[in-house]
Amino acid sequence: MATIIDGKKVAEEVLAECSREIEELKVHGITPGLAVVLVGEDPASQVYVNSKVRKCAELGIHSEKVVLSKDASQDEVLATVKRLNEDAAIHGILVQSPPPSQIDEEEIIRTIDPAKDVDGFHPENVAKLALEDPSGFVPCTPAGCMRLLEASGVKTSGADAVVVGRSMIVGKPMALLLMARGSDATVTVAHSRTEDLAEVCRRGDIIVAAVGIPEFIKKDFVKQGATIIDVGINRVEDPAAKRGYRLCGDVDYKDVFEKAGAITPVPGGVGPMTIAMLMKNTIKAAQAL
Ligand code: NAD
Repeated sequence: MATIIDGKKVAEEVLAECSREIEELKVHGITPGLAVVLVGEDPASQVYVNSKVRKCAELGIHSEKVVLSKDASQDEVLATVKRLNEDAAIHGILVQSPPPSQIDEEEIIRTIDPAKDVDGFHPENVAKLALEDPSGFVPCTPAGCMRLLEASGVKTSGADAVVVGRSMIVGKPMALLLMARGSDATVTVAHSRTEDLAEVCRRGDIIVAAVGIPEFIKKDFVKQGATIIDVGINRVEDPAAKRGYRLCGDVDYKDVFEKAGAITPVPGGVGPMTIAMLMKNTIKAAQAL
């Protein structure tokens, strides 16, 4: 039976660290500031943006929420980012993904000052992650997954880790973090073209699932005693639920529970860590001044 890795509890520890760091900055007259740019009205994006702004308020981080219409032009979004790049009260900038289809997201990301790129998506920060240069910003979700592994005492050195998914937001940076000096895992990255995925996953002492398919990872994918980090957040219809849907991960939690050694639940696993690591990155940006 698996030990449950409590993301809420570890996130609280990270946020307590953040509070101490913010107090120290305030002694030096610095209040960290985060700008969150939302283009359009995507309901899930609105929820994410509001929870980021709320967390800033709880911690005493200054925040600015910029909402642009769903028809905003590329130039409008670029002008907003450039203004925020120049704003001394703002240390971190993020543009909530996904923007509407008329927006070239890559150009927007390249325009964010890398020193304010608290999502860690700018090419300069991607390169720093690959180079193991600690001055860069690490994307929040994989950074949160690493912190969960550490807090749970999971040995990564020499372990076989299988990352399912190769996105720039989760899969690729996760693989880099696991293989970096200090973590020292042997990493396999699986994706939509991987053959015999179940067999590949069964090699994993650690499995990180970032696929975007509800309850995709079943118990026959899991080696006895493996640690499972479930990054997935999926809404599935559930007439019995109050809102008509329930949240689930990319791992079939009930199916794998007996076989896994440790597992993150959804919700309450990786989700709370992502926002905590965003706060951490914002503080790091302010500390770098
Ligand atoms: P994505 O769609 O960008 O990438 C999905 C990856 O899964 C791709 O690399 C693809 O190759 C792989 N994949 C797709 N089908 C597959 C298959 N049949 N077999 C093997 N691999 C397959 O998604 P993403 O942005 O990396 O997000 C992944 C999941 O994580 C989603 O459920 C998303 O909602 C969730 N997410 C959660 C957080 C969080 O804070 N917890 C943050 C970001 C993303």
